[in-house]
Amino acid sequence: MMEFLVVVFGAVIGSFLNVCIHRFPLEKSVIYPGSHCPECEQPVRWFDNIPLLSYVFLRGKCRQCSLRIPLRYFFVEAACALIWFSFLQRHGFTPAFVGGSVLFTLLLAVTVTDLETGLIPDAFTFTGVLCGLGWAALEPARFGQAASGGGIERSLLGLAAGSGILWLTGWLGTRVFRKESMGLGDVKLMAFLGAFLGIKKIVLVFLMAPFFALPVALYARLAKKSETIPFGPYLAAAGALLFLYGEPIIRLLGWTF
Ligand SMILES: [Zn+2]
Repeated sequence: MMEFLVVVFGAVIGSFLNVCIHRFPLEKSVIYPGSHCPECEQPVRWFDNIPLLSYVFLRGKCRQCSLRIPLRYFFVEAACALIWFSFLQRHGFTPAFVGGSVLFTLLLAVTVTDLETGLIPDAFTFTGVLCGLGWAALEPARFGQAASGGGIERSLLGLAAGSGILWLTGWLGTRVFRKESMGLGDVKLMAFLGAFLGIKKIVLVFLMAPFFALPVALYARLAKKSETIPFGPYLAAAGALLFLYGEPIIRLLGWTF
């Protein structure tokens, strides 16, 4: 029963996330007006707005004008349901379940928005920083051996280190190549990830993300002749990996943790 409720909750969060992903880059309110079709402007009625199910029943089309609803809507709802379900399986009903689910939900939002628009809205990263600090206060042991106290300080250190190294890299890149190489959105994403991960893991995110991005950047340059790719999804992927497997990776590197 608990599992079922969590899957439904995850899908509802995903449904709200779809609205945020669509409206944050346009700087529109996510509360008002209610969901409507961008083509015929008909409001979406409640029975056509049920996460996952409505997409299937409507076969991915608007009921009035048959405009295609992007598959992304279904994908985000399904992914969110899976995220919340997986962390429940992993941790049970604990702060770790909430912390992991919130982090992955926000990373999903950042990734999809950055791929679609090339923007990382502040609303996602600022929410992430606040959640990261809250998470550090609840689970200070995640940041190393100091099991009692110091969580917030460690979180702030990760935040400063993460945003600092990426900002500095961008600044150097701009000086050397004489063109804008890193967006401020990526710097804020690093602040958010650093708040969740602490200093060691965020340094590893910084070192790993370029390797994730490299094949895609090469492909974009060679096959599509495009100069830049969004970097946010690779920072997010590295962050997710370090959140799940940070301790074993750090031990493997012989870095005292
Ligand atoms: Zn329509």
